[in-house]
Amino acid sequence: MNSRAYLQILLTFTCWLAVIAPVPAAEIRALKRSAVIFMYEADRQTYLDYGATVLAWGGMPTPQSHTAAAGISAFGSVGMVTEFDQYYERFPQTYEQGLCRDIDGRPVKVPWLTDHQHKGIPYWWCCTSQPLFRQYLSERVTETVRAGADGVHIDDHMGTAGGLWLGICFCGRCVDGFRDYLRTLSTEDLQRLGIERVDEFNYRDEVKRWLSTGEARPRRQITQHPLWPQWTIYQCRAAAKWMQELRELAARTAGRTVPFGANAGLLWPRHLSDYRTLDLFSAETDHHAAGRKPTDLPLVAYRMADAVQRPYAATASGGDWAFIKEKNLPGLVRGWIALSYAAGQCFMTPHRQWCYTPEKGTHWYDGPKKKFAPLYQFVRRYADLFDEYQAYTDVGIVLPYRAFVKDPQRWFDICSQLAARNISYQLLLGGDEIVDHPLSANALEACRVLLIPNREDLLLADRQLVEQRAAKGACSATVLDALAQVEPSVRIEAEGQVRALPRVKPGSAVIHLLNYGYDPASDDVRPLRSVRVQVDLPALGVAGVKTCRWVIPDADPIDLPVKNSTVIVPTLNLWGLLVFK
Ligand SMILES: [Zn+2]
Repeated sequence: MNSRAYLQILLTFTCWLAVIAPVPAAEIRALKRSAVIFMYEADRQTYLDYGATVLAWGGMPTPQSHTAAAGISAFGSVGMVTEFDQYYERFPQTYEQGLCRDIDGRPVKVPWLTDHQHKGIPYWWCCTSQPLFRQYLSERVTETVRAGADGVHIDDHMGTAGGLWLGICFCGRCVDGFRDYLRTLSTEDLQRLGIERVDEFNYRDEVKRWLSTGEARPRRQITQHPLWPQWTIYQCRAAAKWMQELRELAARTAGRTVPFGANAGLLWPRHLSDYRTLDLFSAETDHHAAGRKPTDLPLVAYRMADAVQRPYAATASGGDWAFIKEKNLPGLVRGWIALSYAAGQCFMTPHRQWCYTPEKGTHWYDGPKKKFAPLYQFVRRYADLFDEYQAYTDVGIVLPYRAFVKDPQRWFDICSQLAARNISYQLLLGGDEIVDHPLSANALEACRVLLIPNREDLLLADRQLVEQRAAKGACSATVLDALAQVEPSVRIEAEGQVRALPRVKPGSAVIHLLNYGYDPASDDVRPLRSVRVQVDLPALGVAGVKTCRWVIPDADPIDLPVKNSTVIVPTLNLWGLLVFK
């Protein structure tokens, strides 16, 4: 079934939803796990060579792009930060009304577009609270849907809230809106925050006063103001509400649910703010290319997407692509592709990638098709080994989103320690004041072992669920303790580093094996011989099987015996799948 037909069926099944309802918590996958996703448009032959099924960041559909992308689900992209030139042309006389303002009322440049100008004007960050800029974005979404896009992709989906780290936005709309937010707080909360009269409260004046007094010394960063956390909640909720309005607008325009994607890189804190309005994440994701070795970091983003039951289509960061281009290391990228699909998500085809360094600014990488396309064709050929499978869980990690925002690296480290030992982990996400995601008692119960490094940052209801589950045992506060308790479903013995990612569906299991022995000098992995894979067959739901199938990208499948719950894989190149049925 081609992806457009799949999308139609998906939409038919979801038509019971009110057209304007947010995406419900129940799993709705706008992408199949075997999807082959292009970030930007390509020609017909290139789509065919890769087996494309989805175009995630397409432009405004045209008759030509429709023809080239026949049979492919095409999302049209709308940018909240990158389209200053078009916004200016739409409102050349009045565009300044829609700009973000710093504490002194000055506009603010987009930090990664400082090398861009339009008619001599810098690319200013525009405010998604300002009516003129909202009108521009609304028109862009409307025209994209009217032109025939199957879905809408929003780049820089946080809008103004995405620039909080720059100390914005103090435009009149943002300052006025904060009063409305404060009115929703209790009298006790307002007293605690030192706000006596909400009607007269002006946050810009307050921050200016604070900056000018000794209270702010020795540091005078706006983002350290005592009310900044409240300001952040207000701005992030406003961003999510605006995304919801755009989603409703798209649905009204099309007369159907229009799937929404966004460049929501889940390794970046706060990018789950609007997840309920999104059907998928198609996002830039750090891959640490400069380390010249495979990384488990993207797995954290993939598992976080699993936690909110939405698909994730990754690309690497602009800095990663700049490094790959400069050092010519497509072999490292092949490992990124394999990891994403092994994790049940997707890595967008590296056909044409945005590169960025502060020195070189924006430039582009055109990846070698002969290196990449065979991996995507492999996924298409064996789509049934990807689509219906779920990650098997050895350990559930309880992740309070508030704690993740405070210190993402702590969680990256925890996840990396488990991944490096081939412990298959699931993230059990507890929400906060911005991210509406209660923990599920069933999900907590289903994990044989729980790792709970932080309870204090959970919301009260989530903490109570965790306490109830913890009373039954098999819960750890540290990775070391969890490692002592867990019985991994897959154990590997090999002459080099291997990652095993087990995935299951009723009556079947697929164990993805990834060779992490990457050699930068040859830009390829060193093949591993006689990899010994010991499998807990009952845990994976395939007790008693006597044979399994070894499926790899560059040769025909072979059958392998299962003896004493163990399989010997003769040779592991980059990636292979052990299939048990
Ligand atoms: Zn503003």
